[in-house]
Amino acid sequence: MNRQILMTDDWVGKPRVLKAKETLQAINPDVEIEAVHEYVTPENVDSLVQSADMAIDCAHNFTERDLLNSSCVQWRKPMVEAAMDGMEAYLTTIIPGVTPCLSCLFPEKPDWDRRGFSVLGAVSGTLACLAALEAIKLITGFNQPLLSQLLTIDLSRLEFAKRRSYRDRSCPVCGNNAPWRYLQSQSMEPTTNCNK
Ligand SMILES: [Zn+2]
Repeated sequence: MNRQILMTDDWVGKPRVLKAKETLQAINPDVEIEAVHEYVTPENVDSLVQSADMAIDCAHNFTERDLLNSSCVQWRKPMVEAAMDGMEAYLTTIIPGVTPCLSCLFPEKPDWDRRGFSVLGAVSGTLACLAALEAIKLITGFNQPLLSQLLTIDLSRLEFAKRRSYRDRSCPVCGNNAPWRYLQSQSMEPTTNCNK
């Protein structure tokens, strides 16, 4: 509850995604929202990604994050990558074929790949606003998203740093020998409508 400003106490025990839709439509009745009450799985990830213009990755573990990353790379969809633990957070925007992908950045997974990690609501809220800003930049073309840079945030000290990130040419997801490149060479190229 402490990090879910779209939620209310009377909804405890019910699917968050449906409450999020309800609250967002109360804020702005003109938006159309399709809530999908599912975790990201190998079975649904491609259809979810293909039906979207971009993804914002806020999944709680690297299983789902890696699935989203691979699918976004394959289908050429931008992905805003946001994660936090305690008072720390990181943020970057991934453009397949242009920037490093999540697997380039984290070939080995951090030990915060778990449920039940500590959360201060204002920390996740700060990161969420920054991630939303990245999405707005991507959608509108207004100003420059955070490409090939990893923003690291330590809110215990209010320290923000931008670190240059690099593509790994041998990355199993986006590298030269990634499986989807074979499909491309066989004229089964995924859609390419989001290549800013
Ligand atoms: Zn990669």
